[in-house]
Amino acid sequence: MAQYKQMCVICRKNMALMSYKKRFPICVECELKQIDEKVEEPKFKKLFDIPLEFYRETPFLRDIKRKYLMTGFLTEKQVSAFKKTVGELKKEKK
Ligand SMILES: [Zn+2]
Repeated sequence: MAQYKQMCVICRKNMALMSYKKRFPICVECELKQIDEKVEEPKFKKLFDIPLEFYRETPFLRDIKRKYLMTGFLTEKQVSAFKKTVGELKKEKK
């Protein structure tokens, strides 16, 4: 997969790693700020209540949370993929 770095369009300070999936260069710190929103729905509140470092290290988790914040909805498949990834990260940290 071709990856290259470009200046973040939000802070214009950090470099963002670009891939074919990303349309705008946004650095990890700005992405984390974007998804740092309160989740009211108890089911998802619990789901997204994971250490910040997990979001920082795993683009997939940021993607899922962003999707939820945008649409207010996740499929069962997305929820279970999220849980599985978090479970693996927790195992790694031990
Ligand atoms: Zn930035």
